[in-house]
Amino acid sequence: MSALAAVAVAWALGVSTPGSLPVETLQRTGPSEQRLDLVILGDGYRDVDQSKLTADAETLLEGLFGISPYRQYRGLMNVKLIHAESRDNGADNGSYGAVRDTAFGAYFNCSGVSYLLCVDYSAVLAAAAVYVPEYDQAIVLVNDPKYGGSGGSVAVASTHPNAVTTLRHELGHSLARLADEYEQTFPYPSCDATLDCLEPNATVRTGRSEVKWNAWIDPSTAVPTREGTGFAGIGLFEGCRYLTAGVYRPKDTGCLMKTNASVSFCSVCAEALVRAAWRYSNPIDRVAPSGAVTALACDALSFGVTTPPLEDASWSFVWTVDGAPVAGSGRILDLPPGTLAPGGHVVQVRVQDSTALVRNDPTGLLQGVASWPVTVSPCSVCRAGLACGTSLCVDGMARPAPMCGSSGQCGAAGPSVSCGAYACDAEGLACRTTCSISADCAAGYECRSTQCVSLADGTPGPGGGGGGPIDAGSSRAVTPDAGWLADAGHSPVPLPPASCGCGAGGEGAAAALLWLAVAGALRRRRARG
Ligand SMILES: [Zn+2]
Repeated sequence: MSALAAVAVAWALGVSTPGSLPVETLQRTGPSEQRLDLVILGDGYRDVDQSKLTADAETLLEGLFGISPYRQYRGLMNVKLIHAESRDNGADNGSYGAVRDTAFGAYFNCSGVSYLLCVDYSAVLAAAAVYVPEYDQAIVLVNDPKYGGSGGSVAVASTHPNAVTTLRHELGHSLARLADEYEQTFPYPSCDATLDCLEPNATVRTGRSEVKWNAWIDPSTAVPTREGTGFAGIGLFEGCRYLTAGVYRPKDTGCLMKTNASVSFCSVCAEALVRAAWRYSNPIDRVAPSGAVTALACDALSFGVTTPPLEDASWSFVWTVDGAPVAGSGRILDLPPGTLAPGGHVVQVRVQDSTALVRNDPTGLLQGVASWPVTVSPCSVCRAGLACGTSLCVDGMARPAPMCGSSGQCGAAGPSVSCGAYACDAEGLACRTTCSISADCAAGYECRSTQCVSLADGTPGPGGGGGGPIDAGSSRAVTPDAGWLADAGHSPVPLPPASCGCGAGGEGAAAALLWLAVAGALRRRRARG
């Protein structure tokens, strides 16, 4: 009955049309690899019904996201709509007749249940895979006002006003593997007594500590818990999974998995849905900087993370440097200059969705971790091309001040040079170039006028080499800045790293300060846990 090929007609709605069926984006909150991607496929919508399909899908979504926890976690989901055309409207056995020719063959009376609405699942999944290959969960919206729906690998809902309730319930099955908490008999495999039921909201265990939702049961609540007393909390109520005895559910009445008349999930089912949503996402959407950091010790460093756009989110951020906690609890960590000593470091942040909706998260689905390797070089407090640090003159041998490299880092000190006929100056920084007394001259020389001359023959001795004051003979213009003090007659005076302000032009500093909104190279966490 699938007439997908026949309806693959170019139909224009002003939307993107990969392949031959138009695909409309109804909601995009982030990249697919970081989101639960829902795809809605219309069935029983003719060419003239395609605008109605968009309106119906939007109505359905507003309803779905109208209750907890779908409401809070809408920001973890993307939604696309596939505009498949059908020859007829409605579904088989529905409001418009017993036999309808539709794209995905929707039909009521599935398995003999009048409201059970099924489709041609292979056709649905094939279309979803072709037109929205990133999809995680398919939903078929059937253009028939008769009440009905179904769940499983594909969730199906009609356009009946209560269809949204059906979808909430069915997605509980599809996304969170929740069990029906019904007690009405239905042929279904029973739970394995050794493994316990696989669903988060069903158990055959009756010992308090063995109950998988024990964290939600108040110590004052009896386990098992008596039905029909009006107690509205979480307990252990007998009757679940189409049986009246031997299998237990978390809440007596009122959970959407027990009755479609309800408008809310019990805490245990809601928790399972939140965990399910996080299975497709990560609390850290992006990181900045996007990779390893190279910096100078006097650079100010900043690190940051972005989180998915959740409503009423309660985030916690724990930052560490080399494993030790550091002050800062927001999504940005600022490290003042001088915080990191030269060497290798690791800055890390652990982001947690601290929602009160989840008490059990054994595999850490609600946590994300990002870390940055940081390589810190000494801050040289120098300007490229000029001398930096101090010279030294000892015993007639002078060593010039090291030169500042192009990256702003001070180079190694040069080789020592003899002062010739002269002695070192009083500061021990350089050779003298004139004399006033003979002590200003080297051994074997005496001071005459202002020159050191040989005691042996009275000829002027050689002048000192190297180690002189910085740029004493240079005409290079030096512009003092916050980082150093320099003039023609003095060596630069290093200031403490916290105020050095050096690193201008250093590529390490530039990288460290980069605050780009770059798509983080976060590992895909789909299907983790
Ligand atoms: Zn429940």
